[in-house]
Amino acid sequence: MEINLISDTITKPTHEMLQYMFNAEVGDDVYKQDPTVIELEDTIAQIFGMEAGLFFPSGTMANQTAIKLHTQPGEQIIADKYAHVYLYEGGGASFNSGVSFSLLDGDRGMITAEQVAGAINDPEFYHNPLTSLVCVENTTNKGGGACYELDELKKIKEVCVANNLKFHLDGARIWNALIAKKQDPKAFGQLFDTISVCLSKGLGAPIGSVLLGDKATIHRALRIRKILGGGMRQVGYLAAAGLYALDNNISRLAEDHRRAKELAVVLNKLDWVAKVEPVETNILIFTLVPNLSDHVLIEKLKQKNISISSMGHGKLRMVTHLDYREVMHTYVLETLAKL
Ligand SMILES: *Cc1c(COP(=O)(O)O)cnc(C)c1O
Repeated sequence: MEINLISDTITKPTHEMLQYMFNAEVGDDVYKQDPTVIELEDTIAQIFGMEAGLFFPSGTMANQTAIKLHTQPGEQIIADKYAHVYLYEGGGASFNSGVSFSLLDGDRGMITAEQVAGAINDPEFYHNPLTSLVCVENTTNKGGGACYELDELKKIKEVCVANNLKFHLDGARIWNALIAKKQDPKAFGQLFDTISVCLSKGLGAPIGSVLLGDKATIHRALRIRKILGGGMRQVGYLAAAGLYALDNNISRLAEDHRRAKELAVVLNKLDWVAKVEPVETNILIFTLVPNLSDHVLIEKLKQKNISISSMGHGKLRMVTHLDYREVMHTYVLETLAKL
């Protein structure tokens, strides 16, 4: 039994999902003639109460498209210091859009309206980059799966409106937040100019993200996606996996959250663990006591067929997901307790 807690992206499509993909009706999506892609885009747009959606091969490309939509070269994005768009997209914001970041020191990857207001450059002071976009992440990745309160996001939105800034949500794991906080996706749809969501994380699809926005914005996004090389042909086979995931794999995210919390309870009792960050969803981040190195623990667990990852700076990460089942969980809890 190989147990992989490195990421929720490692899941493989089930037989049922593959069967659903196999039966998809497809067309050339570059001509917008793939009915399954259109169904997926419309379905997710409706879930969030937004006008339109656009299918992307990756969350990175969806986020990069959003940044391109909302900025001009030389301008600046406000985001948390842990933001995926800053840390993990290969420098794409500067490569694709020629923009810089004003990074905020948030709480577990989450920023406040007050911090945002304090980071906006005076648009009349032309020495500074012009601030044009605020980007938040929900749930946070490097922040350990933390979820925003809607009230804080509403306050950030007010700051954006008052200062003529666009507001983008990197919602790669928004599904986890919706389940954990019992929030209404339409409440998110009302706040953001664009939202990106992933189907390939907790939901178990092999590939796929969707960018949401109003019709005019998504129409502009079509050209940017084409430029980035994301226009794909009979891609309904992949969109079908997303539709299957939406129908079957959302409510079960609560199981991933329970298991992550149970892992945290066990880790908290161990004398070689220094600190376990609060667990809200499926990501668990912890640190070791000073005389124990990350590599030693990772190796020890590897010998017991359990893979976990290091995030650098002494932080270790475990992510629960669809392919991490109850038997595996029982084994990991026992193994950790005995280690
Ligand atoms: C995974 C992830 C993405 C998208 O990553 P891809 O690997 O390109 O699909 C974007 N934002 C966050 C917060 C993520 O965790």
